[in-house]
Amino acid sequence: MLMANGVRLIFLGAPGAGKGTQATILAEACGIPHISTGDILRQAIANHTPLGQKAQDYVNQGELVPDSLILDLIRERLQHTDTSNGWILDGFPRNVNQAEFLSALLIELNQDCDFAINLEVSDDSLIERLLARGRKDDNRETIHRRLEVYRHQTAPVIDYYNKQHRLKTVDGDRPMNAITEDLKACIQP
Ligand code: AMP
Repeated sequence: MLMANGVRLIFLGAPGAGKGTQATILAEACGIPHISTGDILRQAIANHTPLGQKAQDYVNQGELVPDSLILDLIRERLQHTDTSNGWILDGFPRNVNQAEFLSALLIELNQDCDFAINLEVSDDSLIERLLARGRKDDNRETIHRRLEVYRHQTAPVIDYYNKQHRLKTVDGDRPMNAITEDLKACIQP
């Protein structure tokens, strides 16, 4: 197992950059949970939970769900016993307010994030990949909105971690294996 002694990573990157795929592979290799707020929300929507009902319209329209729905969820999730060896966050933080919340939460929980990893992919590849994926929110109109939301609200999070000297950038426009190898190299001591 890779670096079992605490790996705490934040995956950044546009919708379709491959965060989910790579986070799944790396989390498995490290024996730590892959925490995807998008997956949690889709599950809640499928199960018609109160969270799902509140989140549904935002997700379907490609808007961010309000921070008030996400922050408590992250606070709880990062205190599960399965997080004692680390975690990979995928899809959170999605704006600077969420990033600031996370920084304060990690101090409170006495945890430290190692890196934020930005998976960089060209716009053409993003759109091609999203259309091929065919999720409910992967139609042309919603994709366009999600990329816009990404540029305006999420891209500033890259700068937030860059200023903290915690940012690593990986070229995500390559075959899956090559990206995984780079990611593993990033977390080697
Ligand atoms: P994802 O699977 O990460 O692409 O997320 C799918 C959708 O879930 C997004 O388009 C948002 O509507 C919502 N979502 C996921 N994570 C967050 C978050 N951290 N803050 C707000 N909305 C989120």
